[in-house]
Amino acid sequence: MTKYVYSFNEGNKDMRNLLGGKGANLAEMTSIGLPVPRGFIVTTEACNKYYEDNKQINPDVESQIFEKLVELEAITGKKMGDINNPLLVSVRSGSRASMPGMMDTVLNLGLTDEVAKGFAEASSNPRFIYDSYRRFIQMFADVVKGYPKASFERLIDQFKEEKGVELDIELTAEDMYQITMKFKNLYLEIAGEPFPQDPKVQLIEAVTAVFGSWNNDRAIFYRRMNDIPSSWGTAVNIQEMVYGNLGNTSGTGVAFTRNPATGENKLYGEYLINAQGEDVVAGIRTPQPISTLADVMPDVYNQFADIAKKLENHYKDMQDMEFTIENGKLFMLQTRNGKRTAQAALKIAVDLVNEGMISKEEALLKVEAKQLDQLLHPAFDGESLRNAKIITKGLAASPGAGTGKIYFTAEEATAAKKRGEQCLLVRLETSPEDIEGMNAANGILTLRGGMTSHAAVVARGMGRCCVSGCSDLIIDEEAKTLSTKDGLVFNEGDYMSLDGTTGNVYGEQIKTVEPEISGEFGTFMSWADEVRTLRVRTNADTPRDAIQARKFGAEGIGLCRTEHMFFEESRIFNFRKMIVADSVEAREKALADILPSQRDDFEKLFTAMEGDPVVIRYLDPPLHEFLPHTDDEIKTLANDLGLSFEALKTRVDSLKEFNPMMGHRGCRLAVTYPEIAKMQTRAVIEAAINVNKQGMKIEPEIMIPLVGELKELQFVKNVVVETADAVIKENGVNLKYHVGTMIEIPRAALLADKIALEAEFFSFGTNDLTQMTFGFSRDDAGKFLEHYYDKNIFEFDPFAKIDQNGVGQLIQMAAEKGRQARPDIHLGICGEHGGEASSVEFCHKIGLDYVSCSPFRVPLARLAAAQAKVKENLK
Ligand code: PEP
Ligand code: MG
Repeated sequence: MTKYVYSFNEGNKDMRNLLGGKGANLAEMTSIGLPVPRGFIVTTEACNKYYEDNKQINPDVESQIFEKLVELEAITGKKMGDINNPLLVSVRSGSRASMPGMMDTVLNLGLTDEVAKGFAEASSNPRFIYDSYRRFIQMFADVVKGYPKASFERLIDQFKEEKGVELDIELTAEDMYQITMKFKNLYLEIAGEPFPQDPKVQLIEAVTAVFGSWNNDRAIFYRRMNDIPSSWGTAVNIQEMVYGNLGNTSGTGVAFTRNPATGENKLYGEYLINAQGEDVVAGIRTPQPISTLADVMPDVYNQFADIAKKLENHYKDMQDMEFTIENGKLFMLQTRNGKRTAQAALKIAVDLVNEGMISKEEALLKVEAKQLDQLLHPAFDGESLRNAKIITKGLAASPGAGTGKIYFTAEEATAAKKRGEQCLLVRLETSPEDIEGMNAANGILTLRGGMTSHAAVVARGMGRCCVSGCSDLIIDEEAKTLSTKDGLVFNEGDYMSLDGTTGNVYGEQIKTVEPEISGEFGTFMSWADEVRTLRVRTNADTPRDAIQARKFGAEGIGLCRTEHMFFEESRIFNFRKMIVADSVEAREKALADILPSQRDDFEKLFTAMEGDPVVIRYLDPPLHEFLPHTDDEIKTLANDLGLSFEALKTRVDSLKEFNPMMGHRGCRLAVTYPEIAKMQTRAVIEAAINVNKQGMKIEPEIMIPLVGELKELQFVKNVVVETADAVIKENGVNLKYHVGTMIEIPRAALLADKIALEAEFFSFGTNDLTQMTFGFSRDDAGKFLEHYYDKNIFEFDPFAKIDQNGVGQLIQMAAEKGRQARPDIHLGICGEHGGEASSVEFCHKIGLDYVSCSPFRVPLARLAAAQAKVKENLK
């Protein structure tokens, strides 16, 4: 029989796939002798079985849970349902990858009327027992049954109002008892049945709810953002309760072994006296810095600091720990590798190497490639910032700068983003339901909560700037206003700005600028470069982008989209003249006017790249993209061109296509109008000759797009070679140049061995290859793919991340066929996927020579390439 339930002393840290991260680490902490409340883990396999069985708990799983419960009762000397000495447990989710706040938790499970009554009599703390019971009813109703939390909260508020008290602590034992009874009645009213009085029924229902929460909307969204497959499932941790809310010698907290925002090697965290675990992370009360625990409970603090060191040495990484103090005794409830900002991740990785704890290769795996993005995010422009007025200050919860219009709900922020607005999300405190709105916002501002509140943790993970605990502000959700104590009022849609590095809040829009990077970044990236074998180029069409990309470490240009060079106001006229030309002569004349600027562009690009390779991709998009569309625009252009309105309108209409992405574009343009390819070749070759005269050694790489047939390539290549050779001869110089193609039509991948006979290099255009393999329009798929994610048909966007099963097969096959036909063929990728970590790893695995991506993703690609190599070495 499959083993579905493990005691903490049966597991270890390497079993996270089966036991989930939390469970595996609780087991590990138990085995190294740390004080961990005892318990057991229901495996991720049991969760998967639950889904396989149509959301039913398997009887084997159920009976194994009860067997382990008996063991737990024996070790703790307590019994579930016992009225004198009851065993109460927490039930928490824990998947393989940490998903903070994404899944559900139930505390104080095991309380019933009888247990509470007996326990209240046996203990000297009836207020605490009924406080725990009413919390349990509320959590059970909310998490297990999905009943609205608010109706329970309203009951408490009403009760307090009637009694004329403000705070929960002012409520007596009798009050708590009364509230518990009210909660039970409310439960009965909503559920149509009484609150369950059998702890075993409660337990199985809670386990089922945790399994169910694996597929709630926010978990699905979090998984998609973090590339976590739905097949992993979640484990469930069942653990004896310990209480941080027993009085002033009890408490609970969260701490990191190093600062998760800066990486500073110093214990960092917060705690609350007389509180239960969720109070800290939920951000409802603002906690105390961990260092002050040294004064309040010196022994506990020293013990905790020792454990923190021990755990960091054990896991060889910065740890994020949760703890509870029950009547002066410390318990560890969780440890895991802590989430951190990119800046902290780099510092910690470099420091751990310098401290001799890990190797450089191990360090490379400690920074998530996509996190590097955070370092490259904008900061405030110094000049604009100097003139800006700080209206208040909160905690610097997640670094970076954010500016935008304020919205008070996640839905409104999401909608604003969809309208194309820059926005900020302002909340009293965030909760997991807000995740989509947090993602849509440029920054997050909360009025409550500390550095480990939900808002702070999630924002850091996302790389959004966040200012939390801004308690000087007043929010009126109904009126949709935010006010300061001195009477400033901001309405929904007003601009504000946040500095997540300082905690400053500004009541206006502030210009942002690109960041400077230095220090650990350079050291760390040099380690990545030492290791990786995959080269990284950039997609750039302007010298400015090329220079930026080189600063970020690009080793050449993998794609210059020449059409982008014509969109500029001063260029578009000549280009339009070329498009509407109705004879070869007229077109050649227009092209001759374009040649100088095109040549100049290439010279500048070659110069910016200082001799690094440059791939020039010939004109690709459907021509009508460049034409005016409205009658007024056509009239103006007709005037400028000396044509009649009707003649131009007829020409514009004739260029319209039903399906332009599959229309007259790519090399098809050069087949129809070879003179375009001739002009582009002349521009490339003359530019290369000119810069080489200045001492550079450029060998231009000319790339023909959208090829699907060998003869098509041969035709265009002949035009290129004839023109290039003639220009070289005219100039009396020697110049080496290369001609290759994009592989972006499935037919080209299938015939790659034939195509390689004419192509010195392939560059996989995975944007088009994905579009044409799936038959999804790359411009429209976003509108319906949402439904595919919701319905679990797709787990990720194939336009962002290579679909390795389908599109990936075509790429791999084409690469192999290409190499067979031409062993020294040079292989790269230039679709958007070239800057996405898992796609970069795939490119490494199938032996491509380089990836090419937008300038700001170059560091990410360098690191992802190095990580792919390190992982390969580990095998
Ligand atoms: C591609 O199709 O992947 C590509 C790089 O070309 P473009 O995006 O310009 O079509
Ligand atoms: Mg393309």
